[in-house]
Amino acid sequence: MDSCEVAIVGSGFAGSLLARILATLGYEVALLERGTHPRFAIGESSTPLANLSLERLGVRYGFADCYQLSTHGRWLANRPELRRGLKRGFTFYRHQPGEQFADRGLDSERLLVAASPNDALSDTHWLRADVDHHFAREAVAAGVEYRDRTELTGAEFGPSEVRLAGAREGAPFALRARFLVDASGPGGFLARQLAIPSALARTETRSALVFSHFDGVALMQDVVPGLPDGPYSDDWAAVHHIIDEGWMYSLRFDHGITSAGFLLTPRGLASFDEAQRTPDALWHAVLSRYPTLSQAFAGARPTMPIAFRPSIQHRLERAAGNRWLLLPHAFAFADPLFSTGIAWSLHAVERLGLMFEDAKRDGAQVELPELARYEAALIAEADQIDRLVAGAYEAMAHFDLFSAQAMLYFATVSFAEVSQRIAPHDYTAWSGFLGVGDSVLGSLPRESHRRLRAITGGRGELGSADARQEFVDWIAASIAPRNVAGLADPRRHNLYPVDLELLVDRHDLLGLTRDQLVAALPALRGMAPEPQFPARGLETAYSANSRR
Ligand SMILES: Cc1cc2nc3c(=O)[nH]c(=O)nc-3n(C[C@H](O)[C@H](O)[C@H](O)COP(=O)(O)OP(=O)(O)OC[C@H]3O[C@@H](n4cnc5c(N)ncnc54)[C@H](O)[C@@H]3O)c2cc1C
Repeated sequence: MDSCEVAIVGSGFAGSLLARILATLGYEVALLERGTHPRFAIGESSTPLANLSLERLGVRYGFADCYQLSTHGRWLANRPELRRGLKRGFTFYRHQPGEQFADRGLDSERLLVAASPNDALSDTHWLRADVDHHFAREAVAAGVEYRDRTELTGAEFGPSEVRLAGAREGAPFALRARFLVDASGPGGFLARQLAIPSALARTETRSALVFSHFDGVALMQDVVPGLPDGPYSDDWAAVHHIIDEGWMYSLRFDHGITSAGFLLTPRGLASFDEAQRTPDALWHAVLSRYPTLSQAFAGARPTMPIAFRPSIQHRLERAAGNRWLLLPHAFAFADPLFSTGIAWSLHAVERLGLMFEDAKRDGAQVELPELARYEAALIAEADQIDRLVAGAYEAMAHFDLFSAQAMLYFATVSFAEVSQRIAPHDYTAWSGFLGVGDSVLGSLPRESHRRLRAITGGRGELGSADARQEFVDWIAASIAPRNVAGLADPRRHNLYPVDLELLVDRHDLLGLTRDQLVAALPALRGMAPEPQFPARGLETAYSANSRR
């Protein structure tokens, strides 16, 4: 192949899925990857919004695997060879340096928020080596021309096409494309080619990362036995350990491997001397400050070298232009706190599927106004993620503040999730991610960040008990119009199950009568009839009126 309609650079799950959608729509697509599958990738923990997006992609384009991979139960039943982990929700613990995690019963510094009512409907951690390989293979099966081991060195934009140049396994490589998608993630292919300026200065979040995959990590439930029962078993979740220096993620896969990493704030990192900045030394230095974490990792063995990245944030000024666009992870990344990356990427893939679907039907190119709309959405959403996460970092000073800030995230995503489930429409993916454009939620991350900085002074200070309580109360009042999950309720002691009865009681927040909400419950309980595959596929994709 020396020319194609769309060239996609990067075959992570997002690039491969988009390539497959476009091929299914009838585009000639080339997918170019500098590495080869299977390969390690970071970014593993999915969420209900990610799974809803995957499910919609499955139904719209007739991709049975996407539908099957969107719950743990269906995944196990249909694709057991792809490794994954059960993720029932979000678990948080606050650890204090030099002290065991304090078991204070229901008053422990522990927060559990269930994302699913049972294991079958649960979210998953994706073993990206398997999942990304799967999506790349499916893209090829859909007719995508896939070229791995391709090192691109140039992208020259002419009036009607883009000329890509590089090398593949030692031989020169050249390709002409009418449109170029950059799905290279932090690889930043187009950022370099187009000299797109960095916009990192407009963002707040800063963190370093030390991480690996490990065998033999003990369950927190074994290390701290006797904590009151939560809505699910603590460890089968995205487990977050908040520490003075930042936080740790710990994601357990079903085959016994745990993905774990410390995110360290600049102040946190600076508390280790230069001799401790090698990956192994830093890993052990952080662990050694926290006895309960040390215990959990005492028998753990890394299954690949521990790696260190002094900074993981990136952000660009532009996300799209004439004949090109960036997928979210090529455009911006703030921090993995709250696991926003997969869902955001899948929302973008859905949006682009619709845009290219329209263009195909009209026999036209994707036009600049569409690209400008896509870019504007990404800019607003990247800002929103950054503010929410930066606020959460401020809030780590005190667990009450952190739990309250987390309620802002959970209120936003649970409202979006329920809304999307009960009233799906073709343009669901265009509704703003993380409350962008919502008259209640849209402005809250900025305001909560401002309030938190006023309390902590930006220096991790605890503030007064009154100031903290005022913040907790402000969050509860601010999310109330969207709080369909019973969040920010002190009677829950930070243990939040999925509560459908409460949801029915709060039907009016969703603009529904009680009866209408009761009628929608099967969809919320995952009891809606399963689509038949090939489900709607092309015919429906084309017959749906996909213009806004
Ligand atoms: C530490 C960390 C933890 C994270 N945890 C989570 C999480 O728990 N949940 C979540 O939802 N998100 C998480 N994320 C975000 C998540 O990683 C991304 O959203 C996701 O990987 C985006 O997928 P992608 O396919 O767009 O890009 P990527 O996964 O980045 O894939 C990019 C692909 O492009 C290829 N490539 C790069 N440069 C070139 C080039 N020049 N030419 C050709 N190919 C190229 C790469 O080899 C790779 O295959 C995390 C991110 C980080 C940094």
